[in-house]
Amino acid sequence: MEKVVILGTGPAGYTAAVYAARANLSPVVVEGNQPGGQLTTTTEIENYPGFPEAISGFELMERMKQQAARFGTRFVSGLAAAVDLSRQPFKVTLDSGESFETLTLIVATGASAQYMGIESEQKLMGRGVSACATCDGAFYKNVPVAVVGGGDTAMEEALFLTRFASKVHLIHRRDEFRASKIMADRALGNPKIEVIWNTVVQEVRDVAQNKVTGLQLRNVKTNAVSELAVNGLFLAIGHRPNTKIFKGQLELDERGYIVARNTLTSVEGVFAAGDVQDPDYRQAVTAAGTGCAASLEVERYLERRGE
Ligand code: NDP
Repeated sequence: MEKVVILGTGPAGYTAAVYAARANLSPVVVEGNQPGGQLTTTTEIENYPGFPEAISGFELMERMKQQAARFGTRFVSGLAAAVDLSRQPFKVTLDSGESFETLTLIVATGASAQYMGIESEQKLMGRGVSACATCDGAFYKNVPVAVVGGGDTAMEEALFLTRFASKVHLIHRRDEFRASKIMADRALGNPKIEVIWNTVVQEVRDVAQNKVTGLQLRNVKTNAVSELAVNGLFLAIGHRPNTKIFKGQLELDERGYIVARNTLTSVEGVFAAGDVQDPDYRQAVTAAGTGCAASLEVERYLERRGE
């Protein structure tokens, strides 16, 4: 029987593990299908406190892992395929068939950015293709970039990118935005933002050079194909929290995020941290903060129960 099982290895999961391990709870961390989480797909991280010269996403996550391992965290590779939260101890079953019984569970399974699903987009991920302007925008000083999407995130990302880029092309598949009027008006009123309506990206150039040099676009009304020179492509077509296995077991909001108050979920003994319960900030440092909080809540919970 485990005292605490942590699902996920982004900043929330690793931070939860550091705290739980230092509290002698011998945490088990299930690594998930992308060890290190979303940050491993970004290039440099300049906004994580303590790294004034920036650090690569991959290295930051490696360091967090080492820190958790140093205090006795046990890492298990694989993906949580099913959970039974209907009775205690909770049961977590991995895709390998291995299962764990645990007194408490910290869910830090994160969220995944949606992508368009084009092969060239996948190949140029982290080499000009990004799903996070806050993370990567500052690398595109005085060059043209494109944002895909028509929701509030796309408006926000496009506006943020105007601080750096020479031009922001906002590509949307319809002729009106889904975004709130105030955000849409702000984007439309910004002289650096140019909207390309009724258009989708067909191809990201240039896989051969291993960096983005432009886009092949298609107008969905006329089918006309055109080229657009840009150095960066930012996807803002939504995020999906990774909560499929908790449906019907934990309270989720209408977008699928876990409803959590101070990391406490609708099931006593189950805590949530990081992007899986945060549609608003989605930053490494806020995820790490809630990972810490979740572990402290686990400690309190176990203490109350005399475990
Ligand atoms: P949304 O789901 O609101 O918007 C996604 C956008 O991406 C839509 O315009 C959609 O087009 C487009 N899209 C989806 N799939 C594709 C695709 N495959 N190819 C091209 N375009 C695609 O997501 P957001 O992340 O923008 O927002 C999520 C929620 O968070 C919303 O409720 C939003 O209001 C909120 N939010 C609020 C903010 C604020 O208030 N400051 C900031 C950011 C988000 P279409 O419109 O045609 O469906």
